[in-house]
Amino acid sequence: ETAGKGSENAPVFLMSEGVEAMYLTSKGKEGEEDPHAWLDVRNGIKYAENARDALIKVDPENEEAYKQNAENYIADLQELHDQAVEQFNEIPKDKRVLVTSEGAFKYFSEAYGFQAEYIWEINQENQGTPNQITRIVDIINEKAITGLFLETSIDPRSMEAVSSETDVPIMGKVFTDSLAEPGEDGDSYISMMEWNIKTIKDGLTR
Ligand SMILES: [Zn+2]
Repeated sequence: ETAGKGSENAPVFLMSEGVEAMYLTSKGKEGEEDPHAWLDVRNGIKYAENARDALIKVDPENEEAYKQNAENYIADLQELHDQAVEQFNEIPKDKRVLVTSEGAFKYFSEAYGFQAEYIWEINQENQGTPNQITRIVDIINEKAITGLFLETSIDPRSMEAVSSETDVPIMGKVFTDSLAEPGEDGDSYISMMEWNIKTIKDGLTR
């Protein structure tokens, strides 16, 4: 994807270079890329590397500074990824099922050994239709799910309906599409992932 067009001739760099795309599976959407790659911290590392390389290209004089900053940041991201793996390994394998409104956790689930279930696969006009609700309620009952999660950026009503239908509580809010407001928990990539890790870990081991 390309970023917003600031000034006319500003160079545009592909931040997702090297990220292996995953695809949507629902009817009519097959073949469309799932946009939630950032929820796998290993992809966050790729974005950081691409940002470093792009900055060096447009401002080669400061190459050393960009390299040093990137090295520090990538070390923090690697530690974050290792933390996630460690924390999630404490959740019994059969409990590692993540139920959210939108199916935003494909990349995340592959990275951290979860199964992802959802009401609708990707945000669009038809969200929380009776068919979608019935489908996820059946899955929750079948898999004996004990906790549901709500996204910070999504209307809570569908997941609340699923929760009352199944008597399974909503364990907390997770970030999927955007960061928190500046000054709040989750206002940087690292703090938003830390929040997600803690919320999911606590919610599935309670
Ligand atoms: Zn999304």
